[in-house]
Amino acid sequence: MEMQAAVFRKVHEPLTIEAVEIDRPRGREVLVRTVATGVCHSDLHVVDGIGRFALDRPFVLGHEGAGVVEAVGAEVTAVRPGDHVVACLSGFCGACAQCLAGHPNLCTGGLVTRPDDTAPRLSQRGRPFRQFLGIASYAERMLLHENSLVRIDPDLPLDRAALVGCGVLTGVGAALRTARIAAGQTVAVFGCGGVGLSIIQGARIGGARQIIGVDVFEGKLETARRVGATHVVNGAEDDAVKAVRALTGGAGVDHAFEAVGVAALVRQAIESLAIRGTATIVGVLPPDAMISFPWMAIRPECRVQTSRMGSNRFRTDIPLYLDFYRHGRLLLDEMVTRRGRLEDVNAAFQAMKAGEVARTILAFD
Ligand SMILES: [Zn+2]
Ligand SMILES: [Zn+2]
Repeated sequence: MEMQAAVFRKVHEPLTIEAVEIDRPRGREVLVRTVATGVCHSDLHVVDGIGRFALDRPFVLGHEGAGVVEAVGAEVTAVRPGDHVVACLSGFCGACAQCLAGHPNLCTGGLVTRPDDTAPRLSQRGRPFRQFLGIASYAERMLLHENSLVRIDPDLPLDRAALVGCGVLTGVGAALRTARIAAGQTVAVFGCGGVGLSIIQGARIGGARQIIGVDVFEGKLETARRVGATHVVNGAEDDAVKAVRALTGGAGVDHAFEAVGVAALVRQAIESLAIRGTATIVGVLPPDAMISFPWMAIRPECRVQTSRMGSNRFRTDIPLYLDFYRHGRLLLDEMVTRRGRLEDVNAAFQAMKAGEVARTILAFD
C-alpha cells in the first residue's frame, strides 16, 4: 500500500513529503492509520546529526503517534481492527531479564523491527527505508509490533493521547515512577519544554508543595506556571542555583530534574539539591558529555540517577496518565502550542529550535 510520509535523507536538510510503500502486517505486527503525531526533540536530533543512528538508508521519523488499528498480523492478541491505540518507543519483548523484573522500559530483547533479511516494512521502488524507533509516525500509516502499542478508550482525543506516548510519559513518569516524589516535597525542573512541563505536572499530581520551573524562554515559563509551577526562574537573567536556593529558604530542593540533555544543567540540578536530595537526569546528553562539579557542591547523602522514558510500564501507565487527563489532573490541552499537518513538520522543527513551542501536533485526515 502506498502512503505519504515525511522522509529524512540527509543531516541538516528538511524532511521531504514522499510516497512510501508500507507492507501488510505479518506475525505480531499491527497496521495503524495515523490520526496524530507529536513532534519530539529526538526526531530533530536525527535531522541535526546528533546521536548514533544508522543513516545508511532513508528514514521515516516520528515516534509520538496515535491512531486507529486497520489490520493485524495472524499472531496479534493485544489489539484488533478499530481499536484506538498509542505508540510507544519502549517496545518490549516480555522475556528478557529487565522485562521479567518489571522494567520493560529497559528491555534488552529488541523486537522493534523486522530482520534485515526479510521484506522491509517501509520501502520505495524496492529500496528499504528505516523506521525511527520502530514506529515512524510521520506517515499516514504505521506498521509496528503489537508490543509497541497500547489500546486506549475510544472517547479520548487521539491528538492529545499521542503526546502521552513519549514526552508526557517520560516527564510524568520521571516524577512519579523514577523519583517517586512524596507529598510535601520541593522540586526544581531545569528545562520547561514538553518533557519538563510533564515533570512539573507529575510533581503536582504527586503532591509536591513547591515546584520551581527553570528555563531561558519566558513563553515556556508562562506555560510552566499554567501547568503547576509555583515559582519560575529565568536562567538567562538569574543564577538559577542561587535563585532555587533563595526560593527554598537556602535549603535547596528535595528533587531536581534535568529535562534538556545539557551537562551544565545537570550540574545546576545537582548544586540545587537539599541534604538527601535526588537529582534525576531525564534529558539525553551527548555520548561523550562530561559532568564535573566541586565536591563541596554536593550536599550530604545526595543521589544522582537517570530516568529512561519515565521508568514506564507503558501498557498500564499510558491509560493511567490518560485517566489523569480525563479527570483534569494532567493538563494536555495546555501543552499543545502549535498544530499543523504532515507538511508542516519542518516548520515545527524550526519553532522547536527557536524555543517557542512546548509541543506541536501534526494531524492527519
Ligand atoms: Zn520523543
Ligand atoms: Zn525485554
